[in-house]
This record gives sequence, C-alpha cells and structure tokens, in this order.
Amino acid sequence: MPPLDADELKRYLEFYRDLGVKELYRRPEARGQALADVAAEVTPSAAPDPPTPNPQPPSEASRSAEAGSLLPILEDIGDCKRCRLHEGRTHIVFGVGNEHSPLVFVGEGPGADEDAQGIPFVGRAGQLLTQMIENTAKREGIPLKRDDVYICNVVKCRPPNNRTPEPDEMEICGQFLFRQLTTIHPKAIVALGGTAARALTGHKEGVTKMRGKWFQWRDIPVMVTYHPSFLLRAYNQDAKREAWEDLKKVLHFVYD
Ligand code: URA
Repeated sequence: MPPLDADELKRYLEFYRDLGVKELYRRPEARGQALADVAAEVTPSAAPDPPTPNPQPPSEASRSAEAGSLLPILEDIGDCKRCRLHEGRTHIVFGVGNEHSPLVFVGEGPGADEDAQGIPFVGRAGQLLTQMIENTAKREGIPLKRDDVYICNVVKCRPPNNRTPEPDEMEICGQFLFRQLTTIHPKAIVALGGTAARALTGHKEGVTKMRGKWFQWRDIPVMVTYHPSFLLRAYNQDAKREAWEDLKKVLHFVYD
C-alpha cells in the first residue's frame, strides 16, 4: 500500500473505528507489500447457475447426515506437493473454527501471517474479518464469536507475493475445499472476494456485481461479499456499508 497522507490516514482510522476495531497493529515488514489482488479473473470450471433469489438452507436432516470429521481430509492433504505452491510455504493453512458450524467463510489463500502461523485470517485482513463477524452479530442481537464459525481458503498454501492463485492451483486444492464444505455442510457459505466467489459459483463477474446476492454451491446458498483486504483499501463509505448489509443478510438467514 502506498504511504498515506494525513487526510487519508484519518479516513482510514475512522473507517476502522466505525467498524468497531479498537486496536491496530502494524507489521513493519509488510509495509509496501501489495495486498492480494482480489479482482483477478479466474476461469470457472462449469457453467454457472443464475443467482438464487430466495435461497433455502439445506435441511437439518441433510446437514447432520453428512456431518463428519475433517481429519481424514487433513490426513489426505498430508505433506502436499500436488502443486507449485508447496515450494514457498511454511505451513499448510487448512482451516479453523467450529467444524459443525452452520456458517463457513471462504477466502482466497493464506498471506504471510497465515503461512507463518498455519491459521487462516490472522493478519490485518483477518483482524478485520473477526471484527466484522463479531460486531455485526452483536449489533443484530446474535450471540456469535469468530470461533463459532468455520474459516478456510480456496488454496491452502500461500501464493508467492500474495498473487492470485492460478486456475490449476485452485482446481487441485479446490478438491479439498469442496470436501471440507461437503463434510461441514453448512446452512450458508460466505465467499470473501472475487476469487472465492468465482471458485464456488463458477460466475465470471467481478465482486462488485456479485456481492449481496445469493448463489449456490451444490445445495448450499453462497453469499458473495467483499474481501476484507479490499475493505482495508476501500476508503469509501459505500463498500463498508455494503459489506455490512451482506453480512447482516447472512447472519439472519443462518441464525434466525
Ligand atoms: N486473505 C485470504 O484470502 N485468506 C487468508 O487466510 C488471509 C488473507
């Protein structure tokens, strides 16, 4: 991110404050490093279905019939060398949270902090995601913490320089994401950013066109919204308000 002047910095901090973020930290080595390009195009593997106007959550019976452990998937991943992304990784970032959760968030791929810790969304974008989930839920009267949901990514190893994962990397790693989603079988999935949205829905549009709409991954409704990294860069009130609305919609759909 380029250096901010005083006005930009003020707007940036106000943006955080409005989202309820009270503490910020700065990782010195990350200064100047480009954030993941959330708007990159990815070739979908299948013809997409149109957005779902009134999604129905999978029935409780179908959810519990498919619920199982994620451990076999982790074991199958093993010391994965199926694609080039293994070359630069420190840790495989499998996923974190409640594997019986009715709500799953899917991001693009690990960044530097996630690669170092082996846990998704623990860096700046992750801090924002946690605040978004917990503050939106609180304001809507829903008792929900980050640990109550499940969080994972399309690819499990950090792409070099946080580049967008290549289609073949997403296809290879996507089999493990799809097994995670099949096992958890949540009531809804939130696709964070264009890469996750396109991987899950097959649609080609940019995230600004897709956000706020329901799509479908198999029988599971998918809500598309902005990636928190994008929100870190977006100083305008519209993106913030829209992400807020998207999350509210999902939380009421899942928890009402
Ligand atoms: N961005 C992602 O898409 N995933 C992470 O885990 C962290 C940042």
